[in-house]
Amino acid sequence: MLRAAPTRFLAACLGPLLAFVAGACWVMDLGAQDPVPAPVCKPCKSSGVLPCSEHPKEESAWEKSARYCSYIADCGLCKGVGFIDCRDCENAASDREWMERAREVAHLGKELAAFDTQMGRKLRKAASTHFSLVWEVDSLKVEKRILGAHELTHLYLDRLESLFAVYIDKLKARPGEIVKRQRVFVWWLVGDQREASLRFCQQGSDNGVKLMGSESAYSVCGNRQFFTTDERLHRNLVHSVTHLLFAHETPSQWVGNLKGGWAEEGLAHVMEEHFFGICDNYCYEEQNTNNDFKGGKWKVAVRKMVAEDKAPTVSDVLQRNTDQLKLPEHAVAMSLVDYLLQREPGKFDLLGKRLRAKVAVREALEGTFGLTPLTLETAWKAWVLETYPKQ
Ligand SMILES: [Zn+2]
Ligand SMILES: [Zn+2]
Ligand SMILES: [Zn+2]
Ligand SMILES: [Zn+2]
Repeated sequence: MLRAAPTRFLAACLGPLLAFVAGACWVMDLGAQDPVPAPVCKPCKSSGVLPCSEHPKEESAWEKSARYCSYIADCGLCKGVGFIDCRDCENAASDREWMERAREVAHLGKELAAFDTQMGRKLRKAASTHFSLVWEVDSLKVEKRILGAHELTHLYLDRLESLFAVYIDKLKARPGEIVKRQRVFVWWLVGDQREASLRFCQQGSDNGVKLMGSESAYSVCGNRQFFTTDERLHRNLVHSVTHLLFAHETPSQWVGNLKGGWAEEGLAHVMEEHFFGICDNYCYEEQNTNNDFKGGKWKVAVRKMVAEDKAPTVSDVLQRNTDQLKLPEHAVAMSLVDYLLQREPGKFDLLGKRLRAKVAVREALEGTFGLTPLTLETAWKAWVLETYPKQ
C-alpha cells in the first residue's frame, strides 16, 4: 500500500491532463511501471489451501511434514492430505502440489497396508519423505504435556526426519543414496513386538531388533518396562535408526560383523551425543540391562581415560565386531568417529562406503585418511585433550 500511494497520487494529479493528451495507453504504462500487487486472499493467506474441516484445527498443522497419515487417510473431503483447495482464490502451484500429495497418499496407503496384513489388524501409522512409522503407543509425557497417539506419531516422524538431516550433514552423504524409506515400528504390547520383530526384522525378541542392509527395519517395544521416559525412547530410536541409515546407504551392507563395529556403533553414539549430550544405548544381546558408563557423559570420560593413559588402544577397538565392544571401547568408538567426522568432512562417509564394500578396516583407514591405527591414535588423543571438556 505504501509503495502504491505515490503512483496513485501522481495518477490522480496528472492523470486527467495526460490522458487527455496521450490517450489511455499512458495510464497503462503507469500501471506497468508499478503494478498494484494481487489482493491477498484472507481465508487462506494466499497459500491456496485451507485446513480440512473434518479434523480438529490444530491437527492439520501436523500433516504438513507428513506424506501419509492413517488418522486422516480415509477422509473423503481432503483425501488424506489434511488440506483442501481454497475456493476464494486461484493458485495453480498449490493445486498441483495438492494433486501430487493426494496421489502420494493413495500410493503409500497401498504400500503400508502390507503392515496391516502382516499383523492382522489396522495399525496406526504414518510416512514422511524418508521413513514409515508404525506407532502403537497411546500416550506419553513429552516434557510437561501428555500427548496422544496421533500427535506422538507426527512428533516421532519429525524427530526421525531431523535425525536424517543431521546424518546427511555430519557425513556429507547424498540423500539419494539412502534409497528406501526406513521402516520403524514402535509397539506398546510385548506380544506385538515379538510378532512384529519376527515378521519385519527376521528375528523375534522382546528387545529392539534391527534388520540392516538393503532392507531396513527397526522394531521396538516402547512401553515403560523398556523406556521410562520419552527422552529414553527417543534416544534409543536415534541410536538404532542411525544403524539402519549407515547400513542402508549405498552400497548397502551391515559391517557390524565385519570388524566395522567401531564405525557403526561409534556413529550411532555420535548421534546420541549430538541430540542429548549423553550416550546410553549399546548393541549387544543384553542391550536393555541398563548398563551405564560414566553417566553417559562420554566426552568427559574419554578425555579422562586419555589423560590418564587408560584408554583402550585404537588397534584393539578397530578389530571388534559390534557385539564384542566393551563399555570403554564403546566410548572410544564414539570419539574416534567424532574425530574422523571433523578431520576431513565427507571422508568418513567414504570410509563407510569402503567398509560396506568389504575393504578391510586398516586398508580402508589408510586409503581414506592416510592413517594407520597408530598415527590415528596419536592424532586422536591430541585432539581429545585439546577439545573435550574436563567435566
Ligand atoms: Zn496425522
Ligand atoms: Zn480431511
Ligand atoms: Zn484463498
Ligand atoms: Zn548400536
